[in-house]
Amino acid sequence: MRNIFAYSIFFLWAVAALWATIVEFVPHDRGGVLTVEVREDVCEEVREATLLFVGDIMAHMPQVESAERGEECYDFVPHLRGVRSLLRGADYAVGNLETTLSPRPPYSGYPAFASPEELARDLRRVGFDALALANNHSCDRGVGGVLATTAALDNEGLDHFGVAVPSLMQGCSGGYVKEIAGVRVAFVACTYGANTPVPQGVELLVSDTVALRKAIDKVRSQVDFLVVLPHWGVEYARRPTNHQREMAAWLREAGADLVVGSHPHVVQPTEVWHDEAGGVTGGVYYSLGNFISNQNSPHTDYGLAAVVTLRVGSHGEKGMTLRAAPLKRVRSMRSDGRFDYGVEVESLCVVR
Ligand SMILES: [Zn+2]
Repeated sequence: MRNIFAYSIFFLWAVAALWATIVEFVPHDRGGVLTVEVREDVCEEVREATLLFVGDIMAHMPQVESAERGEECYDFVPHLRGVRSLLRGADYAVGNLETTLSPRPPYSGYPAFASPEELARDLRRVGFDALALANNHSCDRGVGGVLATTAALDNEGLDHFGVAVPSLMQGCSGGYVKEIAGVRVAFVACTYGANTPVPQGVELLVSDTVALRKAIDKVRSQVDFLVVLPHWGVEYARRPTNHQREMAAWLREAGADLVVGSHPHVVQPTEVWHDEAGGVTGGVYYSLGNFISNQNSPHTDYGLAAVVTLRVGSHGEKGMTLRAAPLKRVRSMRSDGRFDYGVEVESLCVVR
């Protein structure tokens, strides 16, 4: 009897153990279909793009003569190689091209700039990706100059915005949309005006609020960030004018995330925009000064590289880091009486 009791206990334990085993291992077997639960890892994917901007790329005749390597052969790389690693470290490097390009001489400096088209090739070689063309020298060589400039940049695969010849589908005078490292960015380049009348058939985006509003509204909803590059202010003035400050506020209101100014040829202050939590939402570099030039006025040999990292989180939340690196043009006399040029870079620092 004791044995029967012991066997019964063992039998019940065995059934319970087996049942527990079945319950433990086959809970997801429903109607012969094995369902496997896969736990999704919570993965925060952040898209991030680093943009770099420099100021006025001037080409005075002493620079052109310095780059000359025999008849109709030019090499500007020695002038620019000091910034090569900085430019190449960014996902997208943009400058303000304050000259026109030409495939052949005569070349000229101020007041009506025309530079060898090899400058486009050499800007690409050192790491530029795009040039803003809306400035007071855009139309120095008429419609032919605009066409030659945009064609030279196209041939080098360089993006450009600010001036266009719509009938020939050349250039872009409104918002230019670009996806950079997964972040969609629009660039709107505009100018207070031009030194020469804008030729018939050429569209140059001028900084009036109606034209700007139209250009901004056309692209704002397509992109994560909007960058406006106004050519504005007073030459050689180290402080922004009231008009620059008012226009920056208007651009912020109109949807700009970042404003990058040029034209004064000297560096002006930077302003950072914050949200209520203290996060950086955007800002204004009022003037990046000269990138390279042969100017002699005080402070025109200094510039600023603006390095801006744009971030978009998986839920659409956006953030930005503004940094800057001081630049210095160096110039020395050669034995042939011409100058050598270079651009030196100081270390990057965060702008708060
Ligand atoms: Zn200018």
